Amino acid sequence: MATYTPMIQQYLTIKADYQDAFLFFRLGDFYEMFFDDAIKASQELEITLTSRDGGGDERIPMCGVPYHSAANYIETLIERGYKVAICEQTEDPKQAKGVVKREVVQLITPGTIMQGRGIEDKENNFIAAVSLFDDGTFGFAYNDLSTGENKVTLLGENFQEVINEIASIGAKEVVVDDTFPEQLKKDLKEKFFITISLENETSISKSFEHLLTDLDDEKLEQTMSTLLHYLFRTQKRSLDHLQKAKSYNTNQFLKIDYYSKRNLELTETIRTKGKKGSLLWLLDETKTAMGGRLLKQWIDKPLIQKKEIERRHRIVESMINHYFEREELREGLKEVYDLERLSGRVAFGNVNARDLIQLKKSLQQIPAIAHMLNRFQNEDLQHLANQLDPCEELTDLLERSIVDNPPISVKEGNIIRDGYNAELDQYRDASRNGKTWIAKLEKEERERTGIKSLKIGYNRVFGYYIEVTKANLQFLEEGRYERKQTLSNAERFITPELKEKEALILQAEEKIVDLEYELFLSIREEVKTYIPRLQALARIISELDVLQCFATVSEKRHYVKPSFSDERKIIIKDGRHPVVEKVMKSQEYVPNDCYMDQEREILLITGPNMSGKSTYMRQIALTAILAQVGCFVPASEAILPIFDQIFTRIGAADDLISGQSTFMVEMLEAKNAIAHATKNSLILFDEIGRGTSTYDGMALAQAIIEYIHNHIGAKTLFSTHYHELTSLEEELPNLKNIHVSAIEQNGKVVFLHKIKEGPADKSYGIHVAQLAELPPSLIKRANEILVQLEAGSNTREEVTKERKSSIEETAAQLSFFTDEIVPKAEKETSSEKKLLQELSSLNLLEMTPLDALNTLYKLQKKLKSQQNS
Ligand code: ADP
Ligand code: MG
Repeated sequence: MATYTPMIQQYLTIKADYQDAFLFFRLGDFYEMFFDDAIKASQELEITLTSRDGGGDERIPMCGVPYHSAANYIETLIERGYKVAICEQTEDPKQAKGVVKREVVQLITPGTIMQGRGIEDKENNFIAAVSLFDDGTFGFAYNDLSTGENKVTLLGENFQEVINEIASIGAKEVVVDDTFPEQLKKDLKEKFFITISLENETSISKSFEHLLTDLDDEKLEQTMSTLLHYLFRTQKRSLDHLQKAKSYNTNQFLKIDYYSKRNLELTETIRTKGKKGSLLWLLDETKTAMGGRLLKQWIDKPLIQKKEIERRHRIVESMINHYFEREELREGLKEVYDLERLSGRVAFGNVNARDLIQLKKSLQQIPAIAHMLNRFQNEDLQHLANQLDPCEELTDLLERSIVDNPPISVKEGNIIRDGYNAELDQYRDASRNGKTWIAKLEKEERERTGIKSLKIGYNRVFGYYIEVTKANLQFLEEGRYERKQTLSNAERFITPELKEKEALILQAEEKIVDLEYELFLSIREEVKTYIPRLQALARIISELDVLQCFATVSEKRHYVKPSFSDERKIIIKDGRHPVVEKVMKSQEYVPNDCYMDQEREILLITGPNMSGKSTYMRQIALTAILAQVGCFVPASEAILPIFDQIFTRIGAADDLISGQSTFMVEMLEAKNAIAHATKNSLILFDEIGRGTSTYDGMALAQAIIEYIHNHIGAKTLFSTHYHELTSLEEELPNLKNIHVSAIEQNGKVVFLHKIKEGPADKSYGIHVAQLAELPPSLIKRANEILVQLEAGSNTREEVTKERKSSIEETAAQLSFFTDEIVPKAEKETSSEKKLLQELSSLNLLEMTPLDALNTLYKLQKKLKSQQNS
């Protein structure tokens, strides 16, 4: 190191503290990167890699980005999960002796970035901390730096719960200490693409002890402290907007694990991972960014306390019944700015006068909103109205101090109103008087010289001047005017008197700009003291916004207020899948009832592919979730239990698109449900067992059903294509068969999407083949085979014993099938023979009914074209 130049040595010393970040090293108008940082950054950012001499043996790799466009590059790196340490010059280079002092002023990370592309108005940007304690349990804390929210909880010994929490808040960065197991870090990094950060300080510090006063457990304090230490250490500034840490317990909410949330597409769809098409998308009629964020939080954590759920329902009902008041409320909310993030930016010191005008306008809305709420004549809304704090003194201050249309810059004046500050007014008078004086002088000079076109102007280089066109120069009095500048057709002059006035004016203007900036800063400091009140206000505004959003959607889509049964009954009349219904226009959607009670704990759903099994199951789960977040539900009548947990497993073939599903995942999810479900849970198993061979799958499916039936008693919807399972109804008293019907219409299969009692017609596949007009002899034969198979060794009971591989079985069946057909076909033409060969080589057990139908259709088309030729 000794051979490096002093600047490179400085660089290396600073870099040593920021090993896992790109160090943006300020050099004049650029941020430069050196060594490996430079090589990596040049690739990630597609910028030119150069090199410089730094005193060492070899030239040092280097690349850089201009200071003024750095934000864009920083965002790109953050989006890719990297961290960026901003290292600034902290002394004036002109005064520096030797190398200019430099310091890292902020570490920007995926979990702490406050502005830019990655930050959506309606989304929180959470950073989490996980602690692993000696007893094997986990502590989990999270924060949104832009809103100041802090939450913390203790989780069990199951790391899956930690994953669930991380996924449900969508954290991009997780802070852990040195003792955190490597394997778990690796899982977070590789499976969930999470940036891992280190923080070993877990003690409570003076700078944030006031944030921890509501916590009553040492583990909670430790976990939260880890996170706060990290934030203070990386942000290196006042974080006055951080809110008191609140502890929560995952048992206070309806539990839905990560996979189930994904399967149900609550906040994003499986295919695109976007919001569009999710439940959140359907519901989002919020008018404020704060409301949008709260809506997402509510969907992530539906309630289980009946009292609070019913409070929300009462408010939604009242808002539905008062259409005009609700519309006015929506208009009012539209004017409310993002008070939460504004508070954060006030604390961070990056608000401008325009933000404060937005704040003023928002606060001015509050009395009107409170007034509107009273017009609903609803006690719960009244209660919320009473808590609305209009922060009158702050509104007053902003009204008095800041002009209506201030500039973006806070350093160029034109921010503060006349009459707000006496000293400022004096300077302004001086400046304005000076300008009047100049206008007067211009008039006098015109009269004195008789030059009508004479004018007084101003520019930055020469200040004020008198301008006279060349043609008029002859009229100027000798000796009075001093020439300053010559233009092509005019000359510019000054006079001592003009210069004297100019000095006064410019001095005043300079003072004005300085004083305005000072005043702005002191107003900003004053706003800072209101942060807790603004945050409390923000909480109520966002709650109102989400509730009006529920009312708006419920009314528009004809939802009904659900009621809750203590007897674990589900009675849904004309239920619909909220998102599918919206996407396909409601007229077409076929509503379905659902009835479940103690004798109907498990519904076994059969029916052909594409008939609507999965949709039906999901609609029950989404209805339960909507009810428990406090929204109305898509049905004409709904009585539901309050579920404690929801588990789902969606058939392997259904999410092959995402490429993530393996039979193992399917089994793990089944295990998860079986291990944790109670009789108050809801389980959706969609075609479980499809990912393995037929007999394996069928045997597992049956065993799972029996287990749930005999040991858990959770409300379960189980769809299957193993028709054999329908006979379970005879053995298991609390299991009932239902099916989705399809009919033939004008020779085509039409899916009615209608749920009916009893099992689906088992000869359904053959029926479809018949519809497709396969030769009658073939259909007859298929029916014979079916009878044989049913009477033969392949009944369900046997199957569970045999567990032969489906491949062998298929082969055996097919050879038997071909033997019978081929001799009869001897007289046929060779092309028909080929068709039959094709038919016989189909592996029916590997095909879905729809595939089979399509293949049959193709074969038939070929056959017909041969017959016609
Ligand atoms: P399955 O699980 O039985 O294969 P899905 O539930 O995936 O069938 O439904 C297939 C398609 O049928 C869906 O994409 C949807 O467009 C349509 N569908 C399902 N249920 C209904 C319904 N109740 N009304 C109208 N269309 C429906
Ligand atoms: Mg399905």
